[in-house]
Amino acid sequence: MENVTIDRDGAVVTVQGKVIAENRNGNMILQDRQGKLWPLNSEVIQSRTRDNVPFTLMDSTELEKTILEELPGFSIHKTKHFLICYNTSRAYAQWCGGLFERLFRAYNNFWKRRGLEVSEPEMPLVALIFKDKQSYRRYAAHELGPAVDSVNGYYNTITNRIAMHDLTAASRGSERSIQKPAEINELLLQPMAGQLVATVIHEATHQLSFNCNVQQRFSDIDVWLNEGLAMYFETPDLRSKKGWRGMGDINTERLARFSNYLKHRPADSLYSLIASGDRMQGRSEDQRFDHEEAILDAYSEAWALTYYLLTYEQKTFVEYLKFLGEKKPGITESSERKIEDFEKFFGDLEEVDRQFVKRMQKEIKRNAKKWSGQR
Ligand SMILES: [Zn+2]
Repeated sequence: MENVTIDRDGAVVTVQGKVIAENRNGNMILQDRQGKLWPLNSEVIQSRTRDNVPFTLMDSTELEKTILEELPGFSIHKTKHFLICYNTSRAYAQWCGGLFERLFRAYNNFWKRRGLEVSEPEMPLVALIFKDKQSYRRYAAHELGPAVDSVNGYYNTITNRIAMHDLTAASRGSERSIQKPAEINELLLQPMAGQLVATVIHEATHQLSFNCNVQQRFSDIDVWLNEGLAMYFETPDLRSKKGWRGMGDINTERLARFSNYLKHRPADSLYSLIASGDRMQGRSEDQRFDHEEAILDAYSEAWALTYYLLTYEQKTFVEYLKFLGEKKPGITESSERKIEDFEKFFGDLEEVDRQFVKRMQKEIKRNAKKWSGQR
């Protein structure tokens, strides 16, 4: 195990873990025993030593203890793969746990059937559920910055955790969140519950992708693909008796937004979408997913492209995912490189764009009835 002493805003801290990536300048990414990543700039590293203790990730008991020390007053609900840490009602935590496990099975089956090897997570997956917006805000503000007010839940690749607040109060337009299982079932019959389920599933999908080897937490993440996958899975029909339905169906809300975007979509839209990289990698601000006003357009296009490729270019898409999954950690890629890699699999970008738009216009025609007349 590596012991790295760092200067963290004036305080001296020692982090123990495994070096995931390191460059010539001495910058490194360290993974600690909680599974958390520490991107460390050489300037903050004061010393480092290596001992003979082999690196292991925390087991469930140790992880539980550590989290409860960090979040006093919280309780833990354990499922097969998740550690749900909550200060809201036990009923809501249990409901989320059940939903996560159902997603886990459906997600695994989905990829296995398409020839993508998914692996079991290396450690329990941590989800924090806060009872209200205020306590969530206290935890999330320094990770999210100003976005904390507009985001009800998120998955963080650095901490590997999901954090969200109990959404049941807002979903039924009330002050009080639900307390009993029967109340959740009642709530799920309401149309506004769709958004609640979508948020929970969306964030859990991110977490699964990065823990079952579909995506790499340590690589230069393709934002369109990352968000596209989460949106592809986000709208299950929970009332289905067969368990899980709706995975990969048309996401009506995203399609409606995309339809609108097509009216003023610039010619280089696909290029700018695919070239958008992860903010964490210290990129410039000028990216599709950073602009407040345009972000919903970018999301809708990311969903549409993922839907299009998974529907019409499925085999190639799975090969592309495997390729991305094997990328080396800690390397920032240029926009040109991202486009080059994409074209290696799917061919000339302009041609992809033509086919993509043609197909999606057909889907829009077929589905427009669902959103015209709403409002
Ligand atoms: Zn997302």
